[in-house]
Amino acid sequence: MGGFVEIGPVQLEELVHEKIKEAGSDGISQSDLTTALGVSNKELSPILKKLILKRLVSKKSMKVEGKNVIMLFPVAHDTSRIIVNVKSMYDVPCFMCNILNKCGNGSQIGPHNCPKLASWLVSQL
Ligand code: SF4
Repeated sequence: MGGFVEIGPVQLEELVHEKIKEAGSDGISQSDLTTALGVSNKELSPILKKLILKRLVSKKSMKVEGKNVIMLFPVAHDTSRIIVNVKSMYDVPCFMCNILNKCGNGSQIGPHNCPKLASWLVSQL
């Protein structure tokens, strides 16, 4: 019997997400993540894409000691519910946003950190 346990893609995705959540707001570099999990960049990349699409993880390119480093951060989801008046839905800033096509999907701005959306949500409370 060998000492290795094979894990499937779903379990690996959960493991990647867990590791990124553990890193918290400090984030973890993509290369540290590959080392910690013992996976290659080729295996990790599609998993990161999925997590970014699901808005569970965000990705930022940062300069660390003069080098470009890809940092990964967990996206905090507030589980409390916000009830929004349907009439006021027309005022959602995203409908009129001139950077809508650049929003989310690993870009620097997204619903998780958008000040316009945050202040609109606060105005609905
Ligand atoms: S979340 Fe912010 S940046 Fe994104 S579309 Fe809405 S208003 Fe624009």
